[in-house]
Amino acid sequence: MPKINVPGTGHGEFTSPAGNRYWEYKDDKIKKILDQAIWIIQHSVTRMKSCDDCFKALPGGRNFNDVWKDDRIWINFEPRADRDWYGITFGVGGTDISISQSAFDKGRWWVAGTLVHELAHTNGATITSKDADKTLLKCGLVSAYEGVIGVQSVAKKDFYV
Ligand SMILES: [Zn+2]
Repeated sequence: MPKINVPGTGHGEFTSPAGNRYWEYKDDKIKKILDQAIWIIQHSVTRMKSCDDCFKALPGGRNFNDVWKDDRIWINFEPRADRDWYGITFGVGGTDISISQSAFDKGRWWVAGTLVHELAHTNGATITSKDADKTLLKCGLVSAYEGVIGVQSVAKKDFYV
């Protein structure tokens, strides 16, 4: 399973060149919502063949369960709610995801959807297509689907949203 960046893991906190925060979860209320989102993924999303199949069709070629087993992936926290994104992945095929406060403001289902969307980017979904967001339709997370095409920092291309 992806690892959650909480104090004591040794992962630490970093801010990307574009100014995005990949920080630790220190607030128990926020961490609880993340745990609920992970519960949804463990008990529902991982059991859907349609989700495995649509992940396998992404450029990275791994099914959802393969990605979910990848403990090189870290789930970090962006404490600001004024970002124009809910989730972000550092670098192409990167293993650091950050979920913003604005996703947590929308609740556990939105956080689960954001996480699956970003996991699709770790599996090669590009930001020039709707592929990452479309996985939500096959992974039981229709309520978090927006048909989003990612935007990328023009000045500093260090992330996928
Ligand atoms: Zn995206």
